[in-house]
Amino acid sequence: MTSDLLPISTFGDPILREVARPVTEFGDELSEILRRMHLTLATAGGGGLAGNQVGLLRRVFVWRSDNSSGHCVNPDVLETSDDIVFDDEGCMSFPRSFRFELARAREVRVRFQDNRGTQEELMVSGRLARTFLHEIDHLNGILFIDHLAAHDLARAKAAIDQGDLDAIPQPNGGPSPVHGERVYVP
Ligand SMILES: [Zn+2]
Repeated sequence: MTSDLLPISTFGDPILREVARPVTEFGDELSEILRRMHLTLATAGGGGLAGNQVGLLRRVFVWRSDNSSGHCVNPDVLETSDDIVFDDEGCMSFPRSFRFELARAREVRVRFQDNRGTQEELMVSGRLARTFLHEIDHLNGILFIDHLAAHDLARAKAAIDQGDLDAIPQPNGGPSPVHGERVYVP
């Protein structure tokens, strides 16, 4: 249902700079918000969506790739490869045209919980490793532009100054959420 889509916080919203708190209660409410985050991500056509981006200041993110999808609750990076790759990266909280080449570890091992609190571990690589690191950054209040090399950062700042960030599309076609708007999960 369209009404199940969550508005996405856009650059400038202070919630994107806050550190998300751990999830301590696993139940239907968490499962429901994860379902809505998945729906929002699939509708908007992105690779990952973190709690902060939908007004939920909890350590959760959802992800999807060409052939799989999933969610991570309370994720921890256990290990990253020394091997670094440069690739194109964007963010759902920025306009689609706002993409930059960014260095990330090729592989990452992550420990997390599922929606029922069961502990899991996953080794991901390539685009998915990039997504996981990008989303875990969000949970720590870090944005992908924080990793930009000086010349790209100057280009990003120029775009921001020119107001290029004004029209960030929402998956539900509605307006951006009011800054600081919160979704409550116990
Ligand atoms: Zn992002």
